[in-house]
Order: sequence, then structure tokens, then C-alpha cells
Amino acid sequence: MKHYDVIVVGAGPAGATAATVAARHGARVLLLEEHTRIGRPIQCTGLLSIRGWRLARVPESIIVREIKGVQVHSPDGSVYELGGDRVRAYVIDRDRFDQSLVERAIKLGVTLQTGMRAVTLGPYEKGKRTLIARTPTGARESLQASVIIGADGPYSLLAQQAGLPRPKKVLLGLQALIATTHLSPEVREDFVEVFLGRRWAANFFAWSVPAAQGTARVGVATNLLSEAKACFERLWRERHNSGEILSYQSGMIPIGPAERTVTDGLLIVGDAAGQAKPTSGGGIYTGMLCGKIAGGIAARCALTGKTHAQFLYEYESRWRAKLERELLLGWHAHQVLTQLSDKQRAQVLKLLTVPALRKLIERFGDIDYPSRIAQELLKRPRLWNAVWPTIPIGFVQYVKSVATRARM
Ligand SMILES: Cc1cc2nc3c(=O)[nH]c(=O)nc-3n(C[C@H](O)[C@H](O)[C@H](O)COP(=O)(O)OP(=O)(O)OC[C@H]3O[C@@H](n4cnc5c(N)ncnc54)[C@H](O)[C@@H]3O)c2cc1C
Repeated sequence: MKHYDVIVVGAGPAGATAATVAARHGARVLLLEEHTRIGRPIQCTGLLSIRGWRLARVPESIIVREIKGVQVHSPDGSVYELGGDRVRAYVIDRDRFDQSLVERAIKLGVTLQTGMRAVTLGPYEKGKRTLIARTPTGARESLQASVIIGADGPYSLLAQQAGLPRPKKVLLGLQALIATTHLSPEVREDFVEVFLGRRWAANFFAWSVPAAQGTARVGVATNLLSEAKACFERLWRERHNSGEILSYQSGMIPIGPAERTVTDGLLIVGDAAGQAKPTSGGGIYTGMLCGKIAGGIAARCALTGKTHAQFLYEYESRWRAKLERELLLGWHAHQVLTQLSDKQRAQVLKLLTVPALRKLIERFGDIDYPSRIAQELLKRPRLWNAVWPTIPIGFVQYVKSVATRARM
């Protein structure tokens, strides 16, 4: 049986970052990926904040577009445009992004095994964990590590087999790459479009993000699986003039952080731990941030032989100190927003016509930390009058969402 200090399962952004950092700390690391090609299949729109981009430190050629603002389509047909003054995010080539992260891990000494699927997590014995993996030929291989990191995405087999709690909710993301040759001229190539309302995406939102020349990544995220296809087709027909569909992508987006992400000899990170932002479903930045913490702690614990949960728990407390507040606020905001009727959504979006509020959002809006706007708003009592009429809507819907969950 081959032994490693750290085995990372899943070579997405969270796993590749964790493996890199663990190797940098001197650990012998194995990175396992079930697919034969890193970054494929693509299950992502590839919108990444500048902060996320800096954290990744990958080549600039991976940037496909610079994004300066957002057009928000309200359920009542109004369109609100925000930003436009400076670059606020990038659209990236997601498969090359993942490949680049993995290439760096390999340069630091990480052993990569592709086409190898983790199938059984063994018990924690004598400070070690075993893992059975299925090789590309179908054979089973036993591996052993002092610490295993489960970065195995939304379905996380490792989290399930370890009996760790799962993220609170899973949304379906349905996306296509569409040729935009027939798009109307008001669609800007440096803006993303967000569509709200039952017509476009029951319970969450739909989007159109400019990608490589003449194409857009167009998608819908919702928890109402029965409506996802109809919503996507409506968006494609009505907003993209039934432009040629070049490829489809789909995937699950878990949101609402798992209540525990550590057990003896095992950490879970990224989508496996529900670390994506509940307001947007974006999980590249948060996955890398938590992957960085996980890699460092896993390596240190493995090299000192302190692999019991009480030592690994430092990962849990450190990622929560950085993100938990934001993820929980995002989770509550998500709960409220999904309960709103289209009329109420349109009413809330009308706030974007208040110049001082727009200015505040444009100045402090942050796709990684959206709660910053609320914090800034609290510091400006003169603006409270503008938002006051929408507070009862949010409050009533929040109480309803809590009551619904309590009945479940
Ligand atoms: C349609 C859609 C659009 C999205 N758009 C954005 C966006 O614009 N911006 C953004 O920030 N986020 C976006 N996301 C979310 C983002 O893709 C994820 O949050 C992010 O990929 C999470 O990274 P991860 O490393 O945790 O997991 P993943 O990227 O899912 O990587 C997990 C890896 O583990 C591998 N794996 C799974 N099980 C096993 C196993 N048993 N053995 C071996 N390998 C295994 C998988 O093959 C995969 O490569 C989107 C998601 C979807 C579905």
C-alpha cells in the first residue's frame, strides 16, 4: 500500500490549491482526479473577482474578458445598469485555469493521478486513513495517508462516507455557450446580465456573461429542476434570438456551509463543504481561500503525526473566521430572496433608481463580500428612509422561510 502525508481527492480549484500549499509545507502529496483531463467537463461560467484572480496567480492569457458592470433585468421589465467605470471582475477560461493550478502543484512535487476515482474511505486507525481508489483499468488500489482532504465537489463521496453534514441546499446550474451574432446592440461586452423573476429562473437567477469573441455563457440556476429547462429555453429564445448553441454545461451548486468540515484524519473543502457564496453560487474564490488553509493545516498535522480531529479543527476555525459570517448572511439573504414574489422583487430592485444608493452599491459592491453594502448602509442613516419601505417585505419573507424550514 502506498503511503502519503496528504491525499487530496478532486483537482478543482479547492483541491489544486490545497495540494500546492501542502507540498509547499513539505508534505508528500497525492492529488487524485477521476477525470482523465483536468478542468473537463466544464461546469462553470468562469466569472472571478479580481481578488480571486490575484489569489490564483495564474497566467494572464487565461482571462477571456474584463467585466466592468452588471445589467440587472427586473421581473417588471425594467433594466438597471450598475458600474461601468472600472474593471471589477474577469471572465476566465475555466479549464485552462484549473490546469494551470494543477501544473503549479506538480512543479512543487505533488503527484497527480488522473482517471482515478476514490471509491471507499477507510476508518481512521493508528493516526492514518486508508482510501480505496479505482484505477483507469478498473483495478482497485489501496492508498494510505495521514490526512485526506476531500475536495471532491458537490456530491462529495468522502463527506458522505465520513458521515459529515452536507451543505444546506443544492441548486441546478444549466448553461450553454451561445453564438451572439444576433444580439441586440444594447448588450455590452464588458457587462454581465442578470435576470430575476419566475419567467427567467424560478427561485434564483439567470445570467448571460460575455465570453470569447462572439459568444456568451448563458445559464439558469434554480432548485426547481422541473422548470430549469423551460426557463433556459425562454432566455435563449427571447434574449438571445435562438442563437446557435455551441455546447452545453450543467452542474450542481451546493450552498449554505456544512455544519462540520473536519473529522479524524479528514478535511473537506470547496463545494464539498458548501463554501460557495449563497447569493451568487460562485465558489472558485472561496474554494481556493479555504483550500489554502486546508493544505497548510493538513501538511502540518500530517508531518507532526497529530491527525486527530482536535488538531485538524484549526482548519474549521480558521476558514470560519474568514468566511462564515459572509456565507451565513448570504444564506439568510438567499432564503429571503427566494421567497419574494416577482412584484416584491421588482419593488426591491426599484431601490436602484435612488442615486445615493446606486452610488453606494457602485462604490462598495463586492462580489466576494456582498454584505459590505449592508454594512456601509448601516453607517449612513440618511439612506435608511430610501430602503425602509422594503424592510417589512424582507422581514415577513424571512419569518416565512424560517417557519417553512421548521415544518420540514
Ligand atoms: C453552471 C455553473 C456555473 C458556475 N459559475 C461560476 C462562476 O462564474 N464563478 C464561480 O466562482 N463559481 C461558479 N460556479 C461554481 C464553481 O464552479 C464551484 O464552486 C467550484 O468549481 C468549486 O470548486 P471545487 O474545487 O470545490 O470543486 P470542483 O471544481 O467541482 O472540483 C471537484 C473535482 O473533484 C473531482 N472528483 C469528484 N469526486 C471524485 C472522486 N470520488 N474521486 C476523484 N475525483 C473526484 C471532480 O471530477 C472535480 O474535478 C458555477 C457552477 C455551476 C454549476
